[in-house]
Amino acid sequence: MKVLKFGGTSVGSAARIKEVAKLITDRGANIIVLSAMSGTTNTLVEIADYLYKHNVNGAKETINSLEKKYFDVIDELLASDSSRSRARECIGSIFSHIRSFTHEGEFSQVEEKAILAQGELMSTNLMDIYLHEQGYNSVWLPALEFMRTDHNGEADVDYITLKLTPMLEQHGDADLFVTQGFICRNHRGETDNLLRGGSDLTASLIGAAINAEEIEIWTDIDGMHNNDPRYVEKTEPVHELHFNEAAELAYFGAKILHPTCVMPAKVNNIPIRVLNTMEPEARGTLIYNTVHSRSIKAVAAKDGVIAIKIKSSRMLPASGFIHRVFEIFDNYNRPIDMIATSEVGISVTIDDPLKLEHIIDELKEFGTVAVDYDMVIICVVGDLEWHNRGFEARAIDALRDVPVRMISYGGSNYNISFLVKKEDKVRALNALTDHLFLQGK
Ligand code: ADP
Ligand code: ASP
Ligand code: MG
Repeated sequence: MKVLKFGGTSVGSAARIKEVAKLITDRGANIIVLSAMSGTTNTLVEIADYLYKHNVNGAKETINSLEKKYFDVIDELLASDSSRSRARECIGSIFSHIRSFTHEGEFSQVEEKAILAQGELMSTNLMDIYLHEQGYNSVWLPALEFMRTDHNGEADVDYITLKLTPMLEQHGDADLFVTQGFICRNHRGETDNLLRGGSDLTASLIGAAINAEEIEIWTDIDGMHNNDPRYVEKTEPVHELHFNEAAELAYFGAKILHPTCVMPAKVNNIPIRVLNTMEPEARGTLIYNTVHSRSIKAVAAKDGVIAIKIKSSRMLPASGFIHRVFEIFDNYNRPIDMIATSEVGISVTIDDPLKLEHIIDELKEFGTVAVDYDMVIICVVGDLEWHNRGFEARAIDALRDVPVRMISYGGSNYNISFLVKKEDKVRALNALTDHLFLQGK
């Protein structure tokens, strides 16, 4: 059994849903994970935003125009009266549910998450009804009944296995299964989600839970490229990546994969294949446990990074100093991404300003503290095992005209990270492509 995930653009219109149906049928009883139709989650965020701001009319108008869009999709997608009325009833009741949150008074985060979950519920219902109309025995699986996160917000793979296995067994005659990406319940049993872009993680978690043969991530580009195509022109797909290389790229900003989605597949050694819905024959990217050695594979950039430099002002031994610094970040549950140390100081980066003032206050008790906001981590990934001479030199040379605030190398065999200013990001990404991938071509 495989898990096939289709992103928002892939199911973004009636025509695209029909194309996806062709790609998923007659391939065995696989599990199909769908995102919301493109634009829907953003619109649901907008609706929640109006409600936070007590602008109930703004929310209602936005809901009305979203509803109209869905009713138009139903008319274009479905041919028979019975399928259309089934779809209208289903989508209509989802919109009634969304409208139930348009009340006066305080709007809560729990309500926001319930609203955000509706996009995936709609796309999967539409696909399921369409597949039935086409004569397939599709089974709609409710992700809210098997996808759960614990009190740390981490997904519980054992729970997924426990809940999902009997659901699959109960439908031994299914042609295929359709389920929702992104949505889950939290440890309090409330509707929650796996953060934006989280449908990739859903697919990987389901793959791990059922020990799938492969996880296919179908998107709007022909695989993982060697640089970010939103900022660099001449990027190319990388055909094969090791799990660790893909994990670094995803974590450090390659939007094509959710930051943590490689891990569940890696732990269970399940290959991930990234494929293009608009060009299904293209080779795409295979992510698995083999390293193609001695090469730099790709570059990615992570925005919104904050660098904090702490210079020790007390006569603490270096080890005690580093321990105290890490302890403070740990107490506030703030993961550190990059580190650079010297005898007298340490620089670290975090990607979220939450509780930053408290952290700085505590750090100031034993050192002077300087903070740089709006920084970007540029991550160069490949087989960078340190005996392979010259790789780090080539990356550093590429950035010779860009001011670099920090460098991290040697933490793994897979990456070199550079911290640069936000305004230098595009220049740095382009310089790396020119130097590492285009020169000599
Ligand atoms: P989906 O809706 O299918 O999940 P996303 O928009 O989340 O799709 O991810 C696909 C997009 O990721 C691409 O269209 C591309 O703009 C962007 N992207 C960023 N970095 C990369 C990369 N290294 N390789 C390919 N695409 C990338
Ligand atoms: N629909 C969600 C989002 O837009 C999840 C996803 O597409 O992966 O972020
Ligand atoms: Mg995505």
